[in-house]
Amino acid sequence: MTRHILLQNATILIPSGEKNDQVLPLRGHSLLISDTKISQIAPRIVPPTGAQLIDCTGKIVSPGFIDSHHHVWQTQLKGRHANHALLEYLPNGNLQHANYTPDDVFWGELAGCLEALDSGTTTIVDHAHMNDSPAHTSNGIEAAIASGIRSVFCYTPTLRVKSWKPDIVTSGNLLDEWVLDELRRLGSMAPFGDGRVQLGLAFDGFRLPKEDICSLYGKAREIGVKLITSHYVRNAFNDKSIVATLDDYGLLDADILLSHASNLTEDDVQKLIEKNAWISTTPETELQMGHGELVCFKHGCSDISSMGVDCHSNNSSDMVSQMRLALQHERARRNTSIKTQGLNPRRLNLHVQDVFRLATIQGARAINMADKLGSIEVGKAADLIIIDGESPGMICATEQDPVAAIVLHSSIRDIETVIVDGIIRKRNGKLNSVNVRPSLPGVQICCRNLEWEGVAKELLSSRARIQQAIIEANAHEPERLTEAYIRLMRLNADKYAKQ
Ligand SMILES: [Zn+2]
Repeated sequence: MTRHILLQNATILIPSGEKNDQVLPLRGHSLLISDTKISQIAPRIVPPTGAQLIDCTGKIVSPGFIDSHHHVWQTQLKGRHANHALLEYLPNGNLQHANYTPDDVFWGELAGCLEALDSGTTTIVDHAHMNDSPAHTSNGIEAAIASGIRSVFCYTPTLRVKSWKPDIVTSGNLLDEWVLDELRRLGSMAPFGDGRVQLGLAFDGFRLPKEDICSLYGKAREIGVKLITSHYVRNAFNDKSIVATLDDYGLLDADILLSHASNLTEDDVQKLIEKNAWISTTPETELQMGHGELVCFKHGCSDISSMGVDCHSNNSSDMVSQMRLALQHERARRNTSIKTQGLNPRRLNLHVQDVFRLATIQGARAINMADKLGSIEVGKAADLIIIDGESPGMICATEQDPVAAIVLHSSIRDIETVIVDGIIRKRNGKLNSVNVRPSLPGVQICCRNLEWEGVAKELLSSRARIQQAIIEANAHEPERLTEAYIRLMRLNADKYAKQ
């Protein structure tokens, strides 16, 4: 029997403009969800038999946010990187998956997915660089399935640390046979969780020989990965262009998604446009950690950019914070440029709609799912959020301009309901319980139903265990680790400022 949810009397943000890049508020309208899809939008809809009714008077119904770059496993590391540059974060955060057990990955991932859902993210591109063993990856996928979020889980050949002192020593090679076997195994099982969790590939090993990289991309495409994502911060570690490398190797295509693309060249922009490849700007980490200027509003980049959170171990997980930060930072940059000419801005040429699209429809385009996600249209997936437009923070702004209300006045508190694939994951401001029912072979997680409080309890135990493991492994001295990381990666220490 068809399940129906009827949202009544809402302000619904529907697509408008030449390229459907803007949204327009339809006030006093209803929206019907039938099973996993949006089936009707009209001023009045007669409730089908058995429909769940949600009164949306005073509420905004928005497309769920699409976060196109996130390391979801890192929840237990939250708070460690508040004062870290990229160079410090890498050994002290990124490599610490070596001190995670597969169980720790499960709880970190589950809580990371729930934190994202709580803030209105319905789709996440998970750069899952914690593949210390097949069990680590399987547990990550199980957690994404259990959470109910829509995910492109990007399997990642990962640098694995076996000892930390006096130097960081890694074990095995990035593309050992078992790593490739695992990719094939996952490819034969994907997608997971009623199709919500798709398989992608994340890859950052551009120092490997061309043949190895081409062979990996070939295998990944053969098994049908949804996308291939990589970090790209030119000038952070070397001045090589990953775009040029991918293009030289014949690998640059519409399934390529590059995180940051900081300091990219004009040539890079042209190549990305030509090949329909994509960028994910992650404002909070990029501004803090020294990647360089945000490129999402750079000339030529707006139409090939989306937005992401990157490290919720470092910063907020909500896309509204990312939108707000990106918008106001770029405005400050443009205003400062005018001021340096001895003038004052007459008007602003960057609007709230310009950043709202990056977190919605552009995210869907970046993962090649714009036919299904990113906007509210009949026939698209019911990935929706209901926002309390009459909260103390949003009242009156909602009446004036609902997009301004979301981008500049909302907080996670206002995200009242979150629906993914027609299933309610948060209601009345509270996350629904999660149903843990492992489905992948060999996964050893108990079946159970868990409220957030239960997840939090497991997460705190896991964090304590990881902290202990970090100390026992001698991976707890941040400055020493940073120096060791420079040696491990053979970085030029003279390229880093001595503050
Ligand atoms: Zn990242």
